[in-house]
Amino acid sequence: MKILVLNSGSSSLKYQLFDMMNEEVMAKGLVERIGLEGSILTHRPANKEKQEIHADITDHSVAIKLVLDALTNQEHGVIADMKEIDAVGHRAVHGGSTFAQSTLIDDKVIEQMEKLVDLAPLHNPPGLLGIEACKRIMPDIPQVAVFDTSFHQTMPESSFIYGLPYEMYTKYEIRRYGFHGTSHRFVSERAAALMNKPISELKIITCHLGNGSSITAVDKGKVVDTSLGFTPLEGLIMGTRCGDIDPAIVPYIMEKENMDVKQINDFLNKKCGMLGVSGVSSDLRNIEEAAGEGNHRAQLTLDIFYKRIVKYIGSYAAEMNGVDVIVFTAGIGENSIPMREAVCANLTFLGVEFESSANNFRGEEKEITKPGSKVKVFVIPTNEELMIARDTKELVK
Ligand code: AMP
Repeated sequence: MKILVLNSGSSSLKYQLFDMMNEEVMAKGLVERIGLEGSILTHRPANKEKQEIHADITDHSVAIKLVLDALTNQEHGVIADMKEIDAVGHRAVHGGSTFAQSTLIDDKVIEQMEKLVDLAPLHNPPGLLGIEACKRIMPDIPQVAVFDTSFHQTMPESSFIYGLPYEMYTKYEIRRYGFHGTSHRFVSERAAALMNKPISELKIITCHLGNGSSITAVDKGKVVDTSLGFTPLEGLIMGTRCGDIDPAIVPYIMEKENMDVKQINDFLNKKCGMLGVSGVSSDLRNIEEAAGEGNHRAQLTLDIFYKRIVKYIGSYAAEMNGVDVIVFTAGIGENSIPMREAVCANLTFLGVEFESSANNFRGEEKEITKPGSKVKVFVIPTNEELMIARDTKELVK
C-alpha cells in the first residue's frame, strides 16, 4: 500500500510518499512560496538525485499537481502512475472537540472542519485548501485527516477547563485542546516499545521542544494533561510565542502600546518568547551561541526555557503521582545537548540518573540515563508523517 502524506501550510506544502509494506519513504519534498513570487518545488526521491522545479505555483491545486508530476516523472519519479497511490493522509491542526480520532474525509467531515476554522484561523484554512485540491485532482483516492489535537481528547475535564465561568466553555468552546498530538503519540508509543512494556503500564512525560513546544503527561497511554492550551500560545516559552503569562498583562500592554486585538495577537505569537527575551533570535542555536559569548539576555532566555521545562515535568510527575519515562523530541529536544543536560540536572529528586557521556549526540534514538536509573530519559526523533501514514492505512484498510 502506498500512502501520500501532505502537510499544507499557508504558503507551503510538505509531502512524503510511503510504501507501507516496509514503512519506507519513497520520496519527499517541499513546495515553498505558494502564491508568491519565486515559488519552488524541491523533490527528493529516495536513491535518486534531488530535483528543484521553479514554476509559477499560484495555489495549492497547482502545488499538488506539480508534486504528482514529480512523483510520476520518468526520470525523477518513484511511481509510474498516480493510481498507485492508495490513500492520502492530511495533517490537520485543530480538530476541536469534534475529532477525537483520525477520520476518513467526506463532505460532512469537511463541513465540520470548516466550522473549526474559527478556533484556528491561522492553521486550519491551509489544511482545508490541501484537502479540497486533492478532492478535485484525485476524486477516487480516499483521504484521511489526522488532527494535532486528537491525542489530547482523553484529558479529564479537570485538566481542560480553565478558571473561567463554565459558560465560556459551553457557549464558545473555550477549553484546553493541546497540540503536537501526533508527535506526542508517536514518541510515547516508541518509548513504551523501548521500555519493552505495554503503554498501559507506564507513566510517560513527552517533551516536544521545537520552534513551537509542548509537554504532555501520558498515563497508561492516555493524555491526562498538556501544556499548550486553547491556542498554541500557552505553556513553555517558544521561538516567538510567549507561553504562560499573567492574563492581566494583555490588556495592560494593549493600553500602554495602543494595540488592537489583531496587533496584540501578532505580538504574543510573533514577537515574544525566545526572540523577545533574548533580542537575538527565535532560533535556539543562535541563542546558545550568543550565551556562549557572554550575552546576558541570551543566557537569561536559556535559563527561563530550562526552568519552565523542569516546572512542567515536575508538575506532571506530581499530577500522575509518578513518572517512569521522560522523552525529548523535535528540533531542540533531539539536538540541544546543553538543554538536555541542564533539565536532567534538576530531575535527580525524581530518580533521574543522567549519564553525561551518553548525551553527546544529535538526532538519534538513545537513552541518556544510567542503566538502572529509576526514571529513564530517552531522546526519540519524532516522525509525525509516519504516524499520519499509519493512521491513514488503518482507516482505508
Ligand atoms: P522544529 O520546530 O522541531 O523544527 O525545531 C526547531 C528548533 O530546533 C529551533 O529552535 C532550532 O534552533 C532547534 N535546533 C535545531 N538543531 C539544533 C541544534 N543542533 N542545537 C540546538 N537547537 C537546534
